[in-house]
Amino acid sequence: MAGDALLKVQSVETFYGNIRALDGVSVEVNRGEIVSLIGANGAGKSTLMMTICGSPQARAGKIIFDGVDITKMPTHLIARERIAQSPEGRRIFPRMTVMENLQMGAGLDNLKYFHEDIEKIFTLFPRLKERQSQRGGTLSGGEQQMLSIGRALMARPKLLLLDEPSLGLAPLIVKGIFEAIKKLNQEEGLTVFLVEQNAFAALKLSDRAYVMVNGRVTMSGSGKELLADPQVRAAYLEGG
Ligand code: ATP
Repeated sequence: MAGDALLKVQSVETFYGNIRALDGVSVEVNRGEIVSLIGANGAGKSTLMMTICGSPQARAGKIIFDGVDITKMPTHLIARERIAQSPEGRRIFPRMTVMENLQMGAGLDNLKYFHEDIEKIFTLFPRLKERQSQRGGTLSGGEQQMLSIGRALMARPKLLLLDEPSLGLAPLIVKGIFEAIKKLNQEEGLTVFLVEQNAFAALKLSDRAYVMVNGRVTMSGSGKELLADPQVRAAYLEGG
């Protein structure tokens, strides 16, 4: 699958002031894959997601998306290349209704597909259909996560970036969200790159994964290989 990379992150370095948060990170996501990035708090996972989206920008290295060099592109143009993100903390619009939040995700380019896309999202997350007139801020954590993913999908992305979709959610809700991600991948062919602290759930879901420690990728392999790896088990899976 080497020639089928949708996203190529090559030797990327990202700084906050003088602090190097990413130190030569290289990852690839092939078309149709679910790839996850696991690692402890502060490893740099969210920074990688944000760097892919252009804020902060990489100070060194390259990010190629679908053949286009997006390393120095402003964020709004990166979004137009059809990378959509469900960020850490979900960042839905709390005062807007579920429907209005979804409308915001569509942008002007996709309004012609609006009804079709809304129906797909309501089929995937029937709870959002029931709550379509409710304000985002009054939804439960799991419903907000569904809305955040739904809003990202309204942009018709080629690549969906998910930052900690399981954060703060009960195991049963996490299971439902992860099943929805799997379904999108299997039925729609959606390519997904996700960051997770819930390593077990992420590795089970993923075709491949990367482990990040202190701003560097230290290990990679198939989800199955990493689930079975003694080092990964000791650091991220046992006692968690
Ligand atoms: P978490 O799961 O806790 O979000 P993470 O792996 O996503 O962890 P990052 O949030 O990417 O890690 O943080 C990587 C490093 O960069 C940390 O040392 C963090 O303190 C630092 N950092 C993150 N955001 C900023 C910022 N805006 N300004 C300065 N330093 C930052």
